[in-house]
Amino acid sequence: MSGALLVLYPGSFDPVTNGHLDIIQRACRLFDRVLVAVSTQVDKRPLFSLEERLEMLREVTAPLRRQVEVEAFDGLLVHYAVNRGAKAVIRGIRAVTDFDYEFQMSLMNRRLCEELETVFLVPAEAYTYLSSSLVKEVAGLGGSVTGLVPSQVERKLEEKLASERDRRKQSGGCRDG
Ligand code: ADP
Repeated sequence: MSGALLVLYPGSFDPVTNGHLDIIQRACRLFDRVLVAVSTQVDKRPLFSLEERLEMLREVTAPLRRQVEVEAFDGLLVHYAVNRGAKAVIRGIRAVTDFDYEFQMSLMNRRLCEELETVFLVPAEAYTYLSSSLVKEVAGLGGSVTGLVPSQVERKLEEKLASERDRRKQSGGCRDG
């Protein structure tokens, strides 16, 4: 047996939630190293910039730094995985609604790279309804997201939403100019 077993955990992480962290912790129990790969894709119109998403992830995974690394990636996931020497890709499954898309993606990735496996992990029950978009929606409407995201992320969300509100006020209250 040789070499550390490396797994990729790709996503947008806009922003990282306690559900993501739960999956990262579970992955650490199965693999030697976990590379959290933040997608640079902009077509999802993220609330946080790539740099901000990377910074938050690095901050919240700091206690796991001996096993976890955070990096940006663009292009095809399978190319990135092969370049980095990853044996598998982790995806989180919250409910059956996730399954269709994830199943399709995993088979497409297998078609592109036969050796790369997809490993599906299920989070703690408390996080099965949690998504970054729901967190942003609730926080944007003034609801509390305490316990759903790490406290550092909660603070960053408040700052970001306040600056978005200021920006909108300055531009005359029009949402879409
Ligand atoms: P993507 O845009 O690739 O779906 P996300 O950042 O939304 O990126 O999610 C990255 C991965 O984490 C996906 O596999 C997603 O299913 C999983 N995930 C997101 N939220 C949770 C959660 N609450 N519990 C478990 N897995 C999750």
